[in-house]
Amino acid sequence: MSMTRVLYDKHAGLCAGVKRTIRGAVKAANENSNVTTFGELVHNPIVTGNLKKYGIAFVHSMEELSGSRYVIIRAHGIPPKDEDYLRSSKIRYLDLTCPRVKIIHRKIDYYSKLGYKILIVGYPEHAETKGHLGHAGKNGMVVSSPEDISRLDINGKILIVAQTTISEKLFNNIIKALGKKAGKAQIVNSICPFVLNRLRWIRKYSKIAEASVIIGGFNSSNTKQLYETAETSGKAFWIAYPDQLNIKLLSQYKTIALTAGASTPDTTIREVLTLFKKNNFIIEEIY
Ligand code: SF4
Repeated sequence: MSMTRVLYDKHAGLCAGVKRTIRGAVKAANENSNVTTFGELVHNPIVTGNLKKYGIAFVHSMEELSGSRYVIIRAHGIPPKDEDYLRSSKIRYLDLTCPRVKIIHRKIDYYSKLGYKILIVGYPEHAETKGHLGHAGKNGMVVSSPEDISRLDINGKILIVAQTTISEKLFNNIIKALGKKAGKAQIVNSICPFVLNRLRWIRKYSKIAEASVIIGGFNSSNTKQLYETAETSGKAFWIAYPDQLNIKLLSQYKTIALTAGASTPDTTIREVLTLFKKNNFIIEEIY
């Protein structure tokens, strides 16, 4: 009989922005046909599979869309040129960009008009960062590491913003690398509190526990960060599906820290908890 304690992050799972997007998309699919999302709505294979059951499809590029589609703009948001494309093509769409991402877009638009250079701390291939860069236009630049700073011409007025899911450590290191230039910059730490709180939780409890289990899609950026943070303090396991849980292996540990990425559905977390309970692991909810 296992005596392993599972320290469970009570706030694990879907963030408010993703919940809002899923709810909106399902409602739209109930009222309209041909509902399509531009890019995966959530970086989670279970959610994507469930949405398919509601008849919600997804495409990778704007060109794949036709006038018969009803398009959902997901929480990450899109660049203005894509919105212009939808409008000019007379494609109906529903903008479910997370309000936190919208705030960043508005800040970028405002400072960009005032002639500021816009430095986006993020990853160029991430959809949210593409949206920010689109808003910044020719004034925008993406910085993904402190080393990027030396190759950029950063002078004059600058606004610094962050992709909502990047690590706080990376953001702080980039500000440090900017040195004196950061002194004159408008710095907006736009990392989402949902992401920050989870990272802080796993940083703390992965040190207390002997091993950590992180639940989330393998293409989810914030789940990856949780996993990498847990890995720095000890053994860490990343699972996308409940059946990937290795009960036998995990029962060798006295304590396990358990959390999930911001795109992991509550049903998946509940299934994992049920599996643990069935195998006599002791669940302790931690706030
Ligand atoms: S992680 Fe934060 S910013 Fe991103 S969708 Fe969720 S609530 Fe919005």
